[in-house]
This record gives sequence, structure tokens and C-alpha cells, in this order.
Amino acid sequence: MCGVFGIYGHPEAANLTYLGLHALQHRGQESAGIATSDGKQLALHRGMGQVIDVFQPRQMERLTGTNAIGHVRYSTAGGSLLRNAQPIAVDYAHGQIAIAHNGNLTNSLLLREQLEKSGSIFQSGSDTEVIVHLLAVSGQRTTEDRLADALSKVEGAFSLVCLTETKMLAARDRYGIRPLCIGRLKSGDRQFVVASEPTVFSLIEAEFVRDVEPGEIVVLSDEGLRSITPAPPIASKRCVFEYIYFARPDSTLDGVNVYEARKNFGRALARENRVEADVVVAVPDSGVPATIGFAEESGIRYEVGLVRSHYIGRTFIEPQQSIRHFGVRLKLSPVPEVFRDKRVIVVDDSIVRGTTSRKIVKMIRDAGAKEVHLRISSPPTRWPCYYGIDTPTRDELIASSHSVEAINEFVTSDSLGYLSHESMIESVLASASPREPSNVSSEHRLPMLKDEQGRHPFCDACFSGNYPIQYKTPPRSRQMRLLDV
Ligand code: AMP
Repeated sequence: MCGVFGIYGHPEAANLTYLGLHALQHRGQESAGIATSDGKQLALHRGMGQVIDVFQPRQMERLTGTNAIGHVRYSTAGGSLLRNAQPIAVDYAHGQIAIAHNGNLTNSLLLREQLEKSGSIFQSGSDTEVIVHLLAVSGQRTTEDRLADALSKVEGAFSLVCLTETKMLAARDRYGIRPLCIGRLKSGDRQFVVASEPTVFSLIEAEFVRDVEPGEIVVLSDEGLRSITPAPPIASKRCVFEYIYFARPDSTLDGVNVYEARKNFGRALARENRVEADVVVAVPDSGVPATIGFAEESGIRYEVGLVRSHYIGRTFIEPQQSIRHFGVRLKLSPVPEVFRDKRVIVVDDSIVRGTTSRKIVKMIRDAGAKEVHLRISSPPTRWPCYYGIDTPTRDELIASSHSVEAINEFVTSDSLGYLSHESMIESVLASASPREPSNVSSEHRLPMLKDEQGRHPFCDACFSGNYPIQYKTPPRSRQMRLLDV
């Protein structure tokens, strides 16, 4: 769970990256960083916390140059420590390079062990550092060839941006698991933006150009934009959970508008799980579009029954369970007038451990509701994600060991209904628009369609347990790492 951003060819590259990271803050709040290049040298600043806290005028002044990349992080591999913050920037035999990565590599421990055996010394616990070491040992001549070489060895999910003294590179894994898109600033033909989500484009007056294709490396340089596909895409496995929870509703990823997809989830959820009620409310913010779709389809009145405080971060985003527990009450408060003596439907996007839902149901009942029916706009989350969404281990995922009836009992709702797997897939596909034109050849583009065998284009491992890429650990993984306090 991270956000990456890059801007090429703008005199205020660092400032625009700051804004870009701000718009991607929902993708990670633990640390943030920006690396810039002035054509000769890279400059880097990283810190723990949110964008607004990490960058002060003193640092922004020193982040000079027309090219910049940035990163917001939520740790899914490697601890929540400054040394794991990104971008990672190094001096190596071919100059300087900085990398910002979203996604998780599934063979990084194996590669790390091999690299360490041949003498590499790692500075962090982050899987991204493996890519840096592979770049350093590659015998290829150009940066893009070295990157292609390095990426041919890693497995798993990655959407990344790299910065050298003179170039920027953007790359996406061969399944296209995590999103990545390209924009162009309206102020100049050779001014490009790369971002996990296009949410910031309108703010910085950039127009959306296209998504980076699975397996593609985009090279931005003085010569403009060049695309290479060193290893063709394997199969589309875009992460379906981005559409359910993670991405912002004003984003369109791979041609699918997140808001529309969520409304479709809500509509289908209402059709599949009918119940008599007086009012339908959302768990804000991620549950709102699905609730609107639910209300539209069911004809039950939509009300704002839960008010969210925007002065704390997403509760889940803080990794410790102790903070999360406290967080629910800090984050949400009920409007008693909406609930008093009412039969209430409350819609949320997912149940992970079940603890949030339980508290919300209690909160609504305490506010005077006669009945509380919980509706979830995705199927039961049963399997952990290995590709960069923070989900707990299997035994902490309530749906991995409990039936829907047992979860209903645990969260103390009067009834519980999930969206079916089939409706989830159909809802996203129904929101897909035709893909934008591209200079990438059609055999290297994976459409958001079912294939001839009827297979859908998503990674749905968290619901189905069908992992497109196996997780590989070294035979004897080294547990002890330097204690960083
Ligand atoms: P839980 O109490 O663990 O069931 O948390 C469920 C809540 O967490 C829901 O309101 C979701 O919107 C939210 N959620 C689901 N998946 C994630 C995730 N990977 N990171 C952060 N929040 C999540």
C-alpha cells in the first residue's frame, strides 16, 4: 500500500510532487519522500509521517531541478522505519538512481539471500532494495536495459518510478497488479507526470494520457516519451481491491472509474440482499459510493448517519491493533436523529477482522436504531494479499474461519449480506470504458475484458485464494536483523 509519483521537465518539479503525494496520501501515511534531479545530481529528502509533516520549506528549497519522483508508504514488506522509507537513492557505478515502488515482490527474500551471498550489503528491510542491487550488478549499458534486466529477475507486483540524473523511467509488472498512469502537463509537450492514480492531474493542470501497460517500461528523457516492452504481459491481474477500497473514487484506473464501479457494487448488493428498512447509511468514506448505488436500487432513503472526523488518518493505516481499536470512536460518530427508532441498513466496503463493523453496529444501536442490517460491497475477505495491500494473516481474517452467519453473530447485526463474487466482477467490468489510444502495440495491451475462456482480468486472491504468483521464501530465512530504534 503505497503511492508513487513522478514529474519530468517542470521547473517546480519538487512542489508539484509534493502536491501529487498529498493527493496520494490515502495510499500510505507512514512515511513520505521526494528525490529530485537538476540534470547533474540527485537530492533526496525522506521522513516518517504524512506529507504535510515531512516537508518543510527548508527541505523543499534544497529539492531543486526539473525532474522529481516521490513516494508515500504504508509498510507491507519491511518495518515502519525511516531506513525503509522511499525513494531509495544510491550512488553506483553508473551514476545515481532513485526508486519509488508500489507493490510487493514475492521472491525478494530469495533474491536477497543470493545477493548477500555474493557480497551485497543491504541497508534496509524493504523488498525494493533488491531491485537496486540487481541494477547495480547488471552488465547492461543503458539504465533502461539495466532496469529491464533487474525486473526480469523479480517476481510479484510492482509499479515503480526511477530517476537518474537525466531520465525518468516508469515500469509496471507483467500482470499489471498495481495501477500506474501517465499524464502530460498542459504547459509543455515534454512535461510528463507519472502517478499511481490520476487524482492529482486536474490540480496540477495535467491531462491524462494513458495507463502504463503491464510489462511496459516508459522512458522519459530529452527525446520525449519512449515505450519499451522487454517482457510481454502475461495475463491481466489488475487488483480488484483497488476498486473496492483502496483507490480514490475520483480515479479512473485501467479505464475503470472507481466511483462508478463502487456504485455498481452497491446496486448489485441491493439486488442480492433484500431487506425491509427505513434508511440506508454509509460507513464513510470508502462505503459512500456503494451506499448511493444501494439506495438508488432499493429505493430506501440514503441518509448521512455516520460523520467522519477528518482530523485523524485512516485508522487501519496505523499498524498497531491498540491504536486501531481506539481509532473507530475517534473517527466516526453517529447522528442520533437518523437512527432513532429506525430499521437501518449500513453499508461498508469490506470486513477484515470484524472489529470495526462490530463497533459500528453497536454505535448505531446505541444511537436508537431498532434494527441494524449490515451490507458489504465485496465478497468475504478470506485470504491475505501478497502483492501490496495490507491484510492481516489468515487467522486474523474473520471470514477465513467464520461463516457469514457466525460473522453476523460476532458483529451483532440483525442480518449480514455480502456481494457475490460474480457481481463484484461484473460490476467492475460494466464500469470499464474503451481504452485510450496508445503507442503500445495491441499484442502488448491487456484489455479489461474476460478472455475467450471466460476468465476475468483481475487478481481476486483475497477473495478466492487463487494467487497468480506464488510467494517464495528462501530455504533458511535469516530472522535476525539489525535492531533499529
Ligand atoms: P475490520 O475492523 O478489520 O473488519 O476493518 C474493516 C474496515 O477496514 C472497513 O471499514 C474497510 O473500509 C477498512 N479496510 C479494509 N481493508 C483495508 C485495508 N487493507 N487497509 C485499511 N483499511 C481497510
